[in-house]
Amino acid sequence: MAQTRKENLIDGATGQWEIIIGLEVHAQVLSNAKLFSGASAAFGGEPNSHVSLVDAAMPGMLPVINQECVAQAIRTGLGLKAQINRHSVFDRKNYFYPDLPQGYQISQYKYPIVGEGVVIVDLKDYSFEVGIERLHLEQDAGKSLHDQDPNCSYVDLNRSGVGLMEIVSKPDIRSAEEAKAYVTKLRTIMRYLGTCDGNMEEGSLRADVNVSVRRPGEPLGTRCEIKNVNSIRFIGQAIEHEARRQIDILEEGGSIKQETRLFDAKAGTTRSMRSKEEAHDYRYFPDPDLLPLELTDAFIKELEEALPELPDEKRARFMKDYALSAYDAGVLISDRASADFFEAVAKGRDAKLAANWIMGDFFAALNKTGKDISQSPIPAAHLGELIDLISSNVISGRIAKEVFELMLQTGHAPAKIVEERGLTQVTDTGAIEKVVDEIIAANPKQVEQVQTKPKTLGWFVGQVMRATGGKANPDAVNAILRAKLEVPEEV
Ligand code: MN
Repeated sequence: MAQTRKENLIDGATGQWEIIIGLEVHAQVLSNAKLFSGASAAFGGEPNSHVSLVDAAMPGMLPVINQECVAQAIRTGLGLKAQINRHSVFDRKNYFYPDLPQGYQISQYKYPIVGEGVVIVDLKDYSFEVGIERLHLEQDAGKSLHDQDPNCSYVDLNRSGVGLMEIVSKPDIRSAEEAKAYVTKLRTIMRYLGTCDGNMEEGSLRADVNVSVRRPGEPLGTRCEIKNVNSIRFIGQAIEHEARRQIDILEEGGSIKQETRLFDAKAGTTRSMRSKEEAHDYRYFPDPDLLPLELTDAFIKELEEALPELPDEKRARFMKDYALSAYDAGVLISDRASADFFEAVAKGRDAKLAANWIMGDFFAALNKTGKDISQSPIPAAHLGELIDLISSNVISGRIAKEVFELMLQTGHAPAKIVEERGLTQVTDTGAIEKVVDEIIAANPKQVEQVQTKPKTLGWFVGQVMRATGGKANPDAVNAILRAKLEVPEEV
């Protein structure tokens, strides 16, 4: 990965290129009911079982705004540090598609509910800001099903009318890596807020990706929009492929046609879908069935005061209160459950040790079993107890790994495991000395060697550990060995 943003330039046959990326993320609003009807907004269900007369666009039906969806959009706007517009307007975006029975999508065009904001994105080596252009509310469309039957297509309107937040970024992103990190951060923020579940495999979060390339320092090139990319990995692949395609065309003396393209996940390529439509092609006009949305300061303030601690603030607090590195804090706050788990373990304990255990053995164990934190076989209280046993020298770090494995297998508390299996660390120096004496007596060659090569002391440590089943306190072993073999402390 690039160390700084400047190194994001990529090589072509005739010099370097810069990739310019802007994203339009469609995030489904987490709500019980749809944006303009009382039908369920839940994912799945029997086809056409979550459909009101409004969603099916029966003549004469009138949309009624769902206040909870409005609140969710405002919460999201606040999470994006964005301007909340007191006045916004719903417009009709006119186009025909079988899964859009109204013949238009109710969206917001000139006056969106949320204006400019900013998202801070952290990569391993640097951070950058992505400007938010706007967030507007709109309806999702239904789904056309083409695969069941070669002779006909079906339409499922369960998704028709579900609330969407379209979050439009400025063209502030410079690589596939940055784009993936931006969408991940956006998803984290919305999950913290509880405004979108972010389940990309269920289509709750989809991105339209705008890509263009230029020579460093030159004006923006012509962009292509890749529609509806539905996984973070695919976003990265689509950008890499599309940038390369454009660079090849330009280097061969061609020009880029502004168009809408599709990402083919199987082939990892993009292909042309249609020439780019302009806003005026949609004949936007204010929806006469809906009044402009007027928000009061009190309503916004109430939502603002009830916001949870957001990822950036939590990260800063973890660095300050627990003295964690930016990277460790970033990993732990990447979802709320991990952050809460960490705090439950670390409170009143060695926080660095807690972070290492959670990010190391604990996450690895969850990964291996395909479980998430809510299904963890090890509760926070048990992991905390394990850290207490290490900190108070009851067990060594090495034995702790063994105890951790047993905790995973049995679900028992670590103190109980240590007691049952007699794993308590040997800190009795008399007992350790006895073992050391035996090893020294049995290995005269190594004793001679360690006088000239003090590094080989480690071999003796290993022998003592083996003889004690790993239970000897490593500090005590080291001290006793150094004294008896007359190897001075390293400075
Ligand atoms: Mn849209």
